[in-house]
Amino acid sequence: MMIVMKETATDEEVEAVVAKIERAGARAHRSTGARVTVIGAIGDVEQDASVASLGLEAHPGVDRVVPILKPFKLASSQITHGERTVIDIEGRKIGGDNFAMIAGPCTVESREQTMETARVVRDAGATLLRGGAYKPRTSPYAFQGLGQEGLRLLAEAKEETGLPIVTELMDISDLEPVLEVADVIQIGARNMQNYPLLTEIGRSGRPALLKRGLSATLDELLMAAEYILKEGNPNVMLCERGIRTFETAYRFTLDLMAVPVLKQLTHLPIIVDPSHAAGRRDLVGPLSLAAAAVGADGIIVEVHPNPDEAICDGPQQLRASDFADYSHQVAQAAALAGKALSAV
Ligand code: PEP
Ligand code: MN
Repeated sequence: MMIVMKETATDEEVEAVVAKIERAGARAHRSTGARVTVIGAIGDVEQDASVASLGLEAHPGVDRVVPILKPFKLASSQITHGERTVIDIEGRKIGGDNFAMIAGPCTVESREQTMETARVVRDAGATLLRGGAYKPRTSPYAFQGLGQEGLRLLAEAKEETGLPIVTELMDISDLEPVLEVADVIQIGARNMQNYPLLTEIGRSGRPALLKRGLSATLDELLMAAEYILKEGNPNVMLCERGIRTFETAYRFTLDLMAVPVLKQLTHLPIIVDPSHAAGRRDLVGPLSLAAAAVGADGIIVEVHPNPDEAICDGPQQLRASDFADYSHQVAQAAALAGKALSAV
């Protein structure tokens, strides 16, 4: 249920509606837009029925009460009345008219590799630094990431470059050390439906980058986001990273149609990962331009000083020496879609 307040509604009237919703056992999520305040009453079927029976239509300050039509409530664009969520990461804005360039290695391998990549992407105007310390690998025999040592190197890279850090959390038991370093917690494609993990990240309040599962529908992606939002964490960005189809000519199929469709369905920022979709460096440039042109709010891309020697995902990582040119071109495509590269 969604309670749309009148433009003239006072704070007291909003508070009174919130209190009534909570007394009926539902959660009240307030979103204050430029003109009106909207209160989402979120609960199970019974709580929804109790809220419906409150007669809030007649409450002072209430304009109208409307059902939220989608199964994802807090993620739906209906709840913000079409306003887009803008997430602020240490002064860098993601969403709205801002385009985020998130770049860095697949995995943290060494101090030199991490620092060099961080400096290169910072100098080229990157918004955030990515890098995995805990890596979800298909083979249990493959390199699994440097773990806590990787986190320390990311902290050092932030210290030196000032770039906020995006890094993946795979296991709830690593939440504390990850929270010490991550400005944005990445949830990998394979964990998109790890509901206890999503709930904990929601409770942590830390901004989250939620990657679409390999075979997840957009509805499933939005329901996964709802697990984080429901805990009171509004800072969720969604990431299209390629889905599995019958096509075998490339690693995954980058579903760029997801970008405009998600924009209709949700107010959350949409990031595109061309690296993991393509699996090949030569495709990363064109896919990034297309993603920017189709209205993505940002790109997350893998970059390495020497991809031929990378421990993982070497064939898809951009050469650090090519990054400045790449970033410049993507920024031009983003500008065509009305977005400017977000930096401080
Ligand atoms: C990654 O970004 O490092 C990664 C492993 O991506 P995904 O979860 O999309 O495969
Ligand atoms: Mn990778």
